[in-house]
Amino acid sequence: MTFERAPLPLVAIVGRPNVGKSTLFNRLVGQRQAIVDAEAGLTRDRLYGTTDWAGRDFSVVDTAGLDRQARGELVENTQRGTATAIDEADAIIFLVDVRDGLTAADAEVAEMLRRGGRPVLLAANKAESPKDPGYIHELYSLGFGEPLPISAIQGTGTGDLLDRVVEALPPAGGEPEAEATQAVSVCIIGRPNVGKSSLLNAILGDERSLVASIPGTTRDPVDTELSVGDGRVRLVDTAGIRRKGVTKGGIEHYSLLRGFRALERADVAVVVLDATEGVLLQDQHIAGYAIEAGKGVVIVVNKWDLLEIEARDDKEWRRKIDRSFQFIPGVPVVYASARTGRRVSDILPAAVKVDEARRRRIPTAELNRVVRRAVEDNPPPMRKGKQFKVLYATQGKERTPTIVLFVNDPELSHFSYRRYLENQIRARYGFEGVPLRLLLRKRSEED
Ligand code: GDP
Ligand code: GDP
Repeated sequence: MTFERAPLPLVAIVGRPNVGKSTLFNRLVGQRQAIVDAEAGLTRDRLYGTTDWAGRDFSVVDTAGLDRQARGELVENTQRGTATAIDEADAIIFLVDVRDGLTAADAEVAEMLRRGGRPVLLAANKAESPKDPGYIHELYSLGFGEPLPISAIQGTGTGDLLDRVVEALPPAGGEPEAEATQAVSVCIIGRPNVGKSSLLNAILGDERSLVASIPGTTRDPVDTELSVGDGRVRLVDTAGIRRKGVTKGGIEHYSLLRGFRALERADVAVVVLDATEGVLLQDQHIAGYAIEAGKGVVIVVNKWDLLEIEARDDKEWRRKIDRSFQFIPGVPVVYASARTGRRVSDILPAAVKVDEARRRRIPTAELNRVVRRAVEDNPPPMRKGKQFKVLYATQGKERTPTIVLFVNDPELSHFSYRRYLENQIRARYGFEGVPLRLLLRKRSEED
């Protein structure tokens, strides 16, 4: 494993509604991660992302988005997201609207931030017009020093803001971890109450497999390493899985944010569902985040023991899962019960298998044969009177399996044809549970 496993520092964007948090978030994190599967209708707010500035990598969370997603409604509740962010963030961008000056709602947020004791960078947004009176002088009284005028829409001032953010972050964590462990990093994620911590306890129950508990500080995660078959698995942030909603921010915010952070450090995500509730939209979102982050996925349908005997039908569940998780074709599923221990011992081996698939490299000649055969079997339809042609295929060097197709004109390819090619490659190489990226590059036919 070549990844550095220390968590990235976290920067939270905090502020009352409408000051421009989402706009700033989009500017900082950009459109780097596409929405999982717009075609399958699986779109949602993006609220967490990773970026870099001045050589530092860090994650950014939009607290308003955290609220929307945690509560499943469009009403913002700034306080809760803010409280969670204060708990977890290394630095906070406190956003206000320079045109409104200081409002009572800003003062409330400020009060929470003062109590939280994290470094706060005050940014006065919407400062693009020198003609606007601007109330920047009022903002000093918030007590966070000189407000930095920015325009999230135009991007002015955001470079200076990022300079300050990076300065405020804790120093980059020491040495990258020794390669010696070679453990597959696995996180357990899912909605609250699906049984994550019960599963964790069931998995760890067999103490013979326990190798090490890797301690963290109060805010840093505790990982647990255990042996699985011939290899090792590192369960990421076992402390976070166990910790219940003790924060003022409430359990949903906490587990969402903590889940994102665990995901960042994992190779494979074990996404837990509650069998008694079926597949909920939020479950799809959670798996979507994992795939978007380039991680492998195993789905665990937990609380199997609570189903009526006739409902314990894994074929029916398989169909349901294939429908709901179209963006991870053939994802491995384990029908488990943390209570009875059913199939609990299958979970980590499934994750290890997904990790192996995720690291698979397809020899170029072979890949080209598969793609050529797929095109011959099912030639792409004409589009705008022109024929889409795949000239050459190769697997990129990325950690997430990425197939680069050199084509005559990417514009001529249709989504369903790309999916067809993806599925042909998947069928041949068994990338079950693995995100597979297809990149189309234009190449002239004479090359
Ligand atoms: P949030 O509720 O804090 O996430 O705010 P949004 O990002 O949704 O922005 C609220 C409104 O302010 C939207 O209409 C944005 O287009 C607008 N807005 C955001 N940033 C700027 C800016 O830098 N300048 C101006 N003029 N408007 C902005
Ligand atoms: P978490 O919030 O996802 O960590 O969920 P917990 O592990 O705290 O479990 C939530 C509740 O579901 C607890 O009351 C557990 O006892 C119960 N639970 C968890 N797994 C199972 C299971 O497999 N079967 C049954 N019957 N109950 C379970």
